[in-house]
Amino acid sequence: MSGFVLSNYRRLVIKVGSSLLIGDDGHVHRGWLEGLAEDIAILHGGGHDVLIVSSGAIAIGSTVLQINKSRARLEDLQAAAAAGQVQLVHAYQEALGVNGIAAAQVLLTPEDTENRRRFLNARGTLLKLLEHSVVPIINENDTVATEEIRYGDNDRLAARVAQLVMADALVLLSDVAGMYTADPGSDATAEHIPEVRKISEAILGMAGETRSDIGSGGMATKVQAARIATHAGCSTVVTSGAIDRPLQTLAAGGRCTVFRAEGTPAAARKQWLAGFLEVRGELRLDDGAVSALNDGKSLLPVGVVEVVGNFRRGDVVTLVGSSGNELGRGLAEYSDDEAVRLIGCRSEQIEERLGYRGRSVMVHRDELVLFDNDC
Ligand code: GLU
Repeated sequence: MSGFVLSNYRRLVIKVGSSLLIGDDGHVHRGWLEGLAEDIAILHGGGHDVLIVSSGAIAIGSTVLQINKSRARLEDLQAAAAAGQVQLVHAYQEALGVNGIAAAQVLLTPEDTENRRRFLNARGTLLKLLEHSVVPIINENDTVATEEIRYGDNDRLAARVAQLVMADALVLLSDVAGMYTADPGSDATAEHIPEVRKISEAILGMAGETRSDIGSGGMATKVQAARIATHAGCSTVVTSGAIDRPLQTLAAGGRCTVFRAEGTPAAARKQWLAGFLEVRGELRLDDGAVSALNDGKSLLPVGVVEVVGNFRRGDVVTLVGSSGNELGRGLAEYSDDEAVRLIGCRSEQIEERLGYRGRSVMVHRDELVLFDNDC
């Protein structure tokens, strides 16, 4: 038995590599995907949020466009991704649909997770999909990403997604059941590593030696992904996807390597926010807003009495109480001039005040830290 209990984790990001999903003939392994969809349906039924990060667009598209991947140029691969992505997501839509689950396609570039303004947009959309019980099928937006501005591998993309949505577990389905001290294919003394509590140089070194997926991510990229995710409070598991019903097998105690999270996603997010040195503005709040924040709620425009400074959506602002006391800080959902127009505004008046449909909160509760309570 592994020490990993899948059912203990509420929000799961599952990463599926091309080699598991796509056969040598360039087509989707339908039977395998149907099994995965049944596993997802079980998790969904148990109240878990599930997000999928899936590769395979380029592999499928290369077949559609009859491109020889070894001689292809970047624009050939981008065209292949465009042709393949539509089939990839359709396959998920069908497989999940059989289980009564709706799928949604989300294509991301690094800007969407690294730039705070875009980060708020991507996070807002993904959380809304989860609220509607839809399973997002996420991939890199390969048709516009160029070599310099790519995640490059979906292990890292999946870790960034986990961080973005504050997932508490990231499952990397691989073609091996986790990490070994050496390559189990060529070294009979190789031992399985069930748990990693700290990603040390020794672990990074071992990962460099261990064979994994024939896709772009080897074990080294999985450990890098685990490093990003565990820092964000998200435990990461590498397990075999090269079997039918891989998530059920994992849930039943199947072999895997668990990289234990450091703290919780919420604590990691608060720490990240508290670390920002560059504060661009200030929101002064009424007492009602202060007590709502203390109850763990988001800051609504109606509770803002004054706006100070020049800031854009995604910038860090200080939250100040009625006696001028600094309560905490958070990421502004609006720019300063929008915020001024929204002072004291009830949610249903936002559109009238702005002239367009805005977002309902000024600072989302996941994106704020209160100094006394949280630090
Ligand atoms: N985004 C690529 C695709 O869909 C795969 C990247 C990877 O294999 O990690 O083909």
